Amino acid sequence: MKNLFAPWRKTYIQNAKKQDRECFICVAANGNDDAKNLVLLRGEHAFVILNRYPYNAGHVMVCPKRHVKFPYELTEDEQKEIMFFLGKMVQVLESVYKPQGFNIGVNIGNAAGAGEEHLHFHIVSRWFGDTNFMSVVGETRVIPETIEDTYRKIKEALSK
Ligand SMILES: [Zn+2]
Repeated sequence: MKNLFAPWRKTYIQNAKKQDRECFICVAANGNDDAKNLVLLRGEHAFVILNRYPYNAGHVMVCPKRHVKFPYELTEDEQKEIMFFLGKMVQVLESVYKPQGFNIGVNIGNAAGAGEEHLHFHIVSRWFGDTNFMSVVGETRVIPETIEDTYRKIKEALSK
């Protein structure tokens, strides 16, 4: 395995401050280059995207296709598909990365750390000891693979 020293979180925080950029989740939802936009799976109402600035290897996000901010704005069909995808992605991540646990969570609003107003459910694979000194202090992560490798691996597992 090759090691990357990747200050991704810092880039993410800087990008998040830009006011006029397009919503990257809408760009991914409406785009047709899934590999470029890191879209892993599409449904009728929701889709799954790989986090370009991962907290850990195997960090994906389940999003409604519609740009809504709050869970209470989701239709029943959207809720069902999002929950289905959360389950499916946990299963796929288990098979690919064998993590020791998962965090599934939502940040709503800047005050809560949301980088984008478009509702998205994070799934983060967790291992004992992954909250290390460097990530807490330096806003950096050591991820043992490139984002392209992660995309390819999960995509492959989904096609099985
Ligand atoms: Zn959006």
